[in-house]
Amino acid sequence: MKDNDLFSEISAIYSVRGAVAYFGEAVTTLEHSLQAAYFAHESKAPNALIVAALLHDIGHLIDSSSADIAEWTTDARHEVSGSGWLAAHFGPEVSEPVRLHVRAKRYLCAADPSYPGRLSSASMHTLTLQGGPMSHAEVTVFEAETYRRDAIVLRHWDDRSKVVGMRTPEFSDYRKQIEALIRA
Ligand code: FE
Repeated sequence: MKDNDLFSEISAIYSVRGAVAYFGEAVTTLEHSLQAAYFAHESKAPNALIVAALLHDIGHLIDSSSADIAEWTTDARHEVSGSGWLAAHFGPEVSEPVRLHVRAKRYLCAADPSYPGRLSSASMHTLTLQGGPMSHAEVTVFEAETYRRDAIVLRHWDDRSKVVGMRTPEFSDYRKQIEALIRA
């Protein structure tokens, strides 16, 4: 697939399926994603991590899980489907922080006592479905992950990206940054 075609495909996924409310929050998935990318850019993150922040929830958009979080009775595992899709088109510096971003939440809940208090009620609800705070054994495994630090900073941007009415760049403004990372 040509770069241009892949960007168009991703952009269409976000403009059509991203227009619905982000799971249990007052912003759409598109707004949430643009805010995460904005915070990454503001933090002077490398391009790959900005794109990872922009696309971190693509698994929600390519899955058919219900948009109503109250209907979730099992973990939708969106980070696995999303990172798998991304790994087919991008390097691990994009797909790996996405794969680890849910485990980063579970890690921070175990490692940082002040962290759970900063999570929204929807995020606390999914935490339970995702397995709750990590055990000691899970923490040890997570700390051996190459991209754990990227996943943790992505997680913090993700948690902040629920601001109603925030102005951000558009999805199309990321075309060059995305296309620069697409693997031939
Ligand atoms: Fe998110």
